[in-house]
Amino acid sequence: MICLGIEGTAHSIGVGVVNDDDGKCRVFSNLIKIYRPEKGGIHPREAANHHAKYIADLIKESMEKAKICSNDINLVSFSMGPGLGPCLRTAATAARALSLSINKPIIGVNHCVAHLEIGRGTLDDCNDPVLLYTSGANTQVIAFAEGRYRVFGETLDIGIGNCLDKFGRNVGLGFPSGPKIEELAKKGKQYLKLPYSIKGMDLAFSGLLTAAGQYYEKGESLEDICYSIQETTFAALTEVTERAMAHTEKNNVLLGGGVASNKRLREMVQIMAEERGASFFVPTRDLCIDNGAMIAWLGILMYKSGIRLKVEGSFIDQRFRTDMVDVTWRD
Ligand code: AMP
Ligand code: MG
Repeated sequence: MICLGIEGTAHSIGVGVVNDDDGKCRVFSNLIKIYRPEKGGIHPREAANHHAKYIADLIKESMEKAKICSNDINLVSFSMGPGLGPCLRTAATAARALSLSINKPIIGVNHCVAHLEIGRGTLDDCNDPVLLYTSGANTQVIAFAEGRYRVFGETLDIGIGNCLDKFGRNVGLGFPSGPKIEELAKKGKQYLKLPYSIKGMDLAFSGLLTAAGQYYEKGESLEDICYSIQETTFAALTEVTERAMAHTEKNNVLLGGGVASNKRLREMVQIMAEERGASFFVPTRDLCIDNGAMIAWLGILMYKSGIRLKVEGSFIDQRFRTDMVDVTWRD
């Protein structure tokens, strides 16, 4: 079956084509356009306008790249949530229009679950991972238990990517700041004490964001602050992930989301995994960030397990939680 998936939860719009005819997840194409605000953070309406501007061309180009025509598509899937309302609506509207115009079924998928399934689908031996999902808006530790993907820990305030971007914006690094903070952190020499907030299995980053800003105002070196932000937040993320692995007795750990590009985060989680005798996995960068291929792949899994959706009922859900999804495609 060939599925075209449309992802549009936040600042990027992506279209991917996936085929599973040989029983494996084959990504035929996976194109992404990223909205970058000139200043400030992501404005939902402007991000949605950006998506509307590019979506038709992206669909066309992704079919060309995959060497298919619209007749070859068996299923259209889209990101139902969670995310920014105007962005989700733009992606869903495009998916509905495509589904109706080619007369093929439509399916809506949970974005966070898609990050986990693309790892399972494309990485050998990554069968039952604990996912550390670190993106701009989302920060969750997710694993499968009793028919659902359960959230074992999550941020209680802002996502880790948002924390990095907000700090970066306040000190003039521009958006997205994560990669710039990573570069500056490499030159950091001194650890500055920052709040390490773990509450039960959950995390919080806004106190650390305030404290990091105060160090900057006091004239501490930006390199030391970036280094300290990474060491503190990534240690907390790694700790919660390790506890979820111990609790669920799983021995695979998977990274997902834009912050998973960070080498220091990868290193910390990898060391933790090695010390536990567990395996560490991270998808290729194009499948780690928000992308259409992961939406297409989860669409195929859901459709083949018997899930159906009517265009009339294909609503988006800004607060679509990971643990609301009935996982019908796994034992
Ligand atoms: P996503 O929401 O999954 O598309 O990821 C976007 C987030 O990833 C933004 O907050 C970026 O700042 C962050 N990000 C991207 N690359 C890096 C990096 N190398 N280190 C830390 N954060 C990063
Ligand atoms: Mg994401």
